[in-house]
Amino acid sequence: MDWEHNVSLQPYNSLGLPARARFFHQATKEVELLDDLRKVIKDKLELLVIGGGSNLVLARDIDGLALKVDLKGIEIVEENEKSATLRVAAGEPWPELVKHCLKRGFFGLENLSDIPGTAGAAPIQNIGAYGAELSQRLLSVSVIEQTTGSRQEIPAADCRFSYRQSRFKGLWRDRYLITAITLKLTKQPQLCLDHAGIQEAMPTHPGPEDVAREVCRLRRLKLPDPKLLGNAGSFFTNPVIEARQAKDMLAEHANLRMYDLGDGRVKLAAGWLVEQCGLKGIRRGSVGVHKEQALVLVHHGGGTGRQLLDLAEEIRTTVQARFGVKLEIEPRVVA
Ligand SMILES: Cc1cc2nc3c(=O)[nH]c(=O)nc-3n(C[C@H](O)[C@H](O)[C@H](O)COP(=O)(O)OP(=O)(O)OC[C@H]3O[C@@H](n4cnc5c(N)ncnc54)[C@H](O)[C@@H]3O)c2cc1C
Repeated sequence: MDWEHNVSLQPYNSLGLPARARFFHQATKEVELLDDLRKVIKDKLELLVIGGGSNLVLARDIDGLALKVDLKGIEIVEENEKSATLRVAAGEPWPELVKHCLKRGFFGLENLSDIPGTAGAAPIQNIGAYGAELSQRLLSVSVIEQTTGSRQEIPAADCRFSYRQSRFKGLWRDRYLITAITLKLTKQPQLCLDHAGIQEAMPTHPGPEDVAREVCRLRRLKLPDPKLLGNAGSFFTNPVIEARQAKDMLAEHANLRMYDLGDGRVKLAAGWLVEQCGLKGIRRGSVGVHKEQALVLVHHGGGTGRQLLDLAEEIRTTVQARFGVKLEIEPRVVA
């Protein structure tokens, strides 16, 4: 087994945070993953699974194995005139997968264009953007159970997907290694134009390519490129609160940004809450809040995960004191 020793994880996380792994392996085959798991169990090592590292906050070293899942392959498992079912290996880069599907005339992922990371990580937080979520297209998740090495196919219905949530992030955290996902895509475009920003820019007869192009354009406008400025996208999830609490808040803050979920709950815009506290664009040494996007924490270089988490705590405390709302951190924190 080819494990590298004492490896810097800085190139493997989009925040560019410094951390080292005692062992590192980039696995390109399933049998390598099984070997890795066996050794991890035998030697009682800590295991950190990494995809593209775009949703990770590394605030300490890994005294074990950092395992980068790099399985590749996109296979059409079923196709008819209406739909195509694709099995996508976990290490396939998500943005390229979306482009590949569009080119083949397989639709349904266009609103999820350009979300960084890998296909294997997509079910962890049920990636979503511009009115769409992975769960709408996902049939099942192929996994290896970390402790037993047994292969399983988990139907999407068992994953309890909701807004930026799944069992992989909750009850099943660190239980499975995801090796592939199976998606069902349509051949007839069914455009999702719910998001106001997209609708405005559409031509008279829009197609999925128009949606993808507009989503990419908006994302480039709104989000910093991690290659230029370390970040993990949205750092906090939009808080979901009881409609009653929102009504009380509205009495105090007439311009409160919220979205009615229709089930007695409302979703608040976390970025708006942060911005209202005057925290947009602040800097604490090497870390800060992005000057255009209050939901994105950034690493200017030379900082640490600890500094970033201290800033996150400062933001959470300030927002809680002002609005009585608790912000939850979206990325996986290794502290
Ligand atoms: C600029 C930017 C914009 C973003 N925009 C969005 C957005 O619009 N919507 C959205 O939902 N997210 C967004 N994100 C977050 C991120 O893109 C997603 O969470 C993505 O799915 C992470 O994929 P990854 O491969 O980089 O995962 P990683 O960061 O490598 O890992 C994230 C978590 O998944 C686990 N994991 C990774 N691969 C596997 C595997 N094969 N098996 C088991 N566990 C695994 C890791 O252990 C970790 O807990 C954004 C991030 C950035 C940097």
